[in-house]
Parts: sequence; structure tokens; C-alpha cells
Amino acid sequence: MLEHPPLRLKSRAPIWQTEINNETTECLWKRRWSQTETRNQDLIKEPSIKVPGWDFKRAQWTTLNRIRTGQGRCNYLLHKWGMVDSPLCECGEIQNITHIVETCPFTKFEDGLVKLHECGPAAAKWLEELVVQL
Ligand SMILES: [Zn+2]
Repeated sequence: MLEHPPLRLKSRAPIWQTEINNETTECLWKRRWSQTETRNQDLIKEPSIKVPGWDFKRAQWTTLNRIRTGQGRCNYLLHKWGMVDSPLCECGEIQNITHIVETCPFTKFEDGLVKLHECGPAAAKWLEELVVQL
């Protein structure tokens, strides 16, 4: 019988303590996805297949994923990071990603986030014409 060294750091997860089971990677991924709380998680029903828009141009793809994750160069986050003086949008509301996509009179995508995620022709056009650089 192999004797493993004692654990010195609680933060480490040595391979001899990793649970081994016969679950496929796909099943493991699905299970972890369903157990994790992620912003806009409802957009992705099947985590093992490519999300729509993966064949967009890089700039559109990047912007789309920043919108999906709620992490982009909006004034709310730039202000939080000390990079701009105000978190406000030019319309006067706090400019976060949700505001840009769903409520801003200057930028909103009329069909909403779910339709944007689905990447129809209107979504592709909106992403290409978006004036805010996320
Ligand atoms: Zn606005």
C-alpha cells in the first residue's frame, strides 16, 4: 500500500484525493454547469454544444460574450475600477451591460438579450453597429 505524504496546505487538492468515477466529461460538465450560479445562465440550456454566434467576426463574438457574461467596458465597471469619472451613460442612467442591451434609448437591442444570444440577422447587425465599445 502506497503511503501519501500528509497535507500541508488546505488549499491544495492533491491528485490522490481527486474523486475518480466513470462519469463522462460531457456529463461532468453538464452537472457542474447546472450546479453553478452564473450570470445569464438560463441562456445556455445545453453547455456541451457551441453557443450561437461562434462563427461571427472576432469583434462581434467578443462583444457578444461580454454581453452574455455581463463583463465589459461599460461605464459602471470602468468607474468601479477608477478609470472614468462617472458610472453614468449619456442618457443619465447607470451604464452597465444590462442597461446597454435592454434599456438604454441610444443602444438597446429591441428584441432583448435572449434574441441577441440566439444570433439572428438582427443581432448580427446590432453587434456590428453598436457604438459602445465593450
Ligand atoms: Zn443609456
